[in-house]
Amino acid sequence: MVILGILRTLWLRPGDPPAERALSAIALVFLINGTILSRWISRIPAITERHGLGKSEIGQLIRANHQWQDERQARGEIMTAWNQESFEEAVRQAAKSLSEGGVPVGSALDIDGSLVASGHNRRVQDGDPIAHGEMSCLRAAGRQRSYRDAVLYTTLAPCAMCAGTIIQFGIPTVVVGESETFPGELEWLRSRGVDVIELDDDRCKRLMSEFQERYPEVWAEDIGEV
Ligand SMILES: [Zn+2]
Repeated sequence: MVILGILRTLWLRPGDPPAERALSAIALVFLINGTILSRWISRIPAITERHGLGKSEIGQLIRANHQWQDERQARGEIMTAWNQESFEEAVRQAAKSLSEGGVPVGSALDIDGSLVASGHNRRVQDGDPIAHGEMSCLRAAGRQRSYRDAVLYTTLAPCAMCAGTIIQFGIPTVVVGESETFPGELEWLRSRGVDVIELDDDRCKRLMSEFQERYPEVWAEDIGEV
């Protein structure tokens, strides 16, 4: 049916009835969208498998995280509870950016223990040099009266720009996926009283290593080292 519509579109002449022209155009749009959508959907299993985002693994992580947090809170090592589910959203955002050819840094924001927004680096996608993962996430969250009960999740240690924003708004807790591929400004954040929780997450490291190997010049551009 759709193929017939496409063929019909190719055969249209200026004098054909408007209804027939409209139907053919709709069929064409459906075919193009369907092709794009099916190609995108077919990539999901490869992305999730590559970055270990299976549902059972997330369940295990959440249980292990709750136990680890309970132990750390009992020892007085962390001030604020945080959600593994929100961190997983940040990881998903990072993987999404990589699948778009962008810098794989994802971020998520909890306020009062609930996820309010997420985002990823959009330097390549939007040609926006300040759209780091954390900045995109905070922009998506819109105006917040206070960040006093906020937790910001990021797959990579925040750079000076993002750390400055965290300090500016008084975000008290930052959960960091990894700081091995980029050290960021963790000590500066800590010196300003921010509770920085490092996870040493292998998936975040794999995403960044893959990107740094594939697009070294874009990465150098993103951190101002060209
Ligand atoms: Zn940044």
